[in-house]
Amino acid sequence: MDWDEFEEWGRYVSRWAADYHKSLRDLPVRAQTRPGDTIRGLAAAPPSQGQPMDAIIDDFERVVMPGMTHWQHPRFFAYFPANATPPSMIAEMLVTTIAAQCMLWQTSPAATEMETVMVDWLRQALALPEEYTGVIQDSASSATLSAVLTMRERAIDYTGNRDGLNGKGTLRIYCSEQVHSSIDRAAWIAGIGQENLVKLPTRSPRHELDVDALRAAIRGDRAAGHIPAGIITITGGTGVGASDDLAAVLDVARTEDLYTHLDAAWAGAAMICEEFREEFWAGVAGYDSIVINPHKWLGAQFDCSVQFLRDPQPQLNTLKIEPEYLKTTGAAVTNYSEWTIPLGRRFRALKLWFLIRSYGLEGLKARLRNHVRWANEICDVLRAMDGFDIVTEPMLSLFTFRCPGDDKDQQRLVDAINDDGRIYLTQGAFQGKKVIRFQVGQFETTREDVLFAADVIRDVWARMK
Ligand SMILES: *Cc1c(COP(=O)(O)O)cnc(C)c1O
Repeated sequence: MDWDEFEEWGRYVSRWAADYHKSLRDLPVRAQTRPGDTIRGLAAAPPSQGQPMDAIIDDFERVVMPGMTHWQHPRFFAYFPANATPPSMIAEMLVTTIAAQCMLWQTSPAATEMETVMVDWLRQALALPEEYTGVIQDSASSATLSAVLTMRERAIDYTGNRDGLNGKGTLRIYCSEQVHSSIDRAAWIAGIGQENLVKLPTRSPRHELDVDALRAAIRGDRAAGHIPAGIITITGGTGVGASDDLAAVLDVARTEDLYTHLDAAWAGAAMICEEFREEFWAGVAGYDSIVINPHKWLGAQFDCSVQFLRDPQPQLNTLKIEPEYLKTTGAAVTNYSEWTIPLGRRFRALKLWFLIRSYGLEGLKARLRNHVRWANEICDVLRAMDGFDIVTEPMLSLFTFRCPGDDKDQQRLVDAINDDGRIYLTQGAFQGKKVIRFQVGQFETTREDVLFAADVIRDVWARMK
């Protein structure tokens, strides 16, 4: 392909993108294909000769598009959102075009310096103290793994990377039973082990970690000769939005000298709104590591996960490695690849710059506030429906409910709704029972889209009975 053809296809794709987004409401939200359909549509072997772009694009429409679930659909109420706002998509097109690998300051100074400033813009937006710096990672899973490795190394005087973990004693990390599976995986990969990730019970009304149980567990572990290494808290858990009492946990961490990591991957975005901070974020200042995903609710195209660090040194002591070929000379600069596990880095800060400049903080706040308001509205509509129960009340814009019947009926309703295709919901579990999750967070969703979901639920339920 030469650059004139590239220009032509680039125009075609821009037009296609706008048409696609404008027509989303007409498409089923979840892909309606069956396992193997896409495989059957693809050639079994690679072509030996080059093929024309129009044939490739035709096949893309015919074979690929039916097998896509539309995450930018305004009636997407499943999981959590992965919003790609138009300005952040434009930034990603530019990043794709320049295609720089931004591992070190000198491999693109603008990328590094913009990352420093964008992390600070977000720090201000979230009202975190000035001492916080941070780094943009690909995912909350990576940020959490970095924090867990740091907990491990700090607890054994930074000797694990050199010696391995043999003979180091049993390291223990504490969290509630509501944490995301990425915390389990971080404990596996860091050599802590599932059995040493101590999952404590929660309390009502915010499903928060029981701090008395936390204190007792740490005391018991010390008596048994184990090594407490860190505590992981959540603001806005994936299942039901569980949110820990950050101040109370921090108090324990300080008394016990434990490293702290806060997983606010989804709900952290909402903390740009002043009115949510007192309920959900009192005591946040002081956490050693905090992760929020602007690629979820805030609108930065996937992937973009910001890890704030109160002091980056423990994480640098854990992850920094500098072979000869990565050494740079001259003035002291930040090389963000020393803060994270992968060496290579995409230029992720540009889309934050485009996003925040384009909407302004007030524009972003207005959207989040609407989502929370509309989630409460539809929650009340479902509450009033015959035989339906709200299982967990809205935590920001997430709540869970049950239709009449047993666990199988909940799954049948979820499957029937998603086969219907007008909206998309997913199931969860709470206190051993299956629940249906509902979250509002798609960037272009309207109040009508949200209330329409109640009509679809009623309609599909009536057909199912
Ligand atoms: C989405 C989510 C994660 C995982 O985020 P990734 O960026 O996909 O790794 C972790 N914790 C919570 C609370 C989440 O909502």
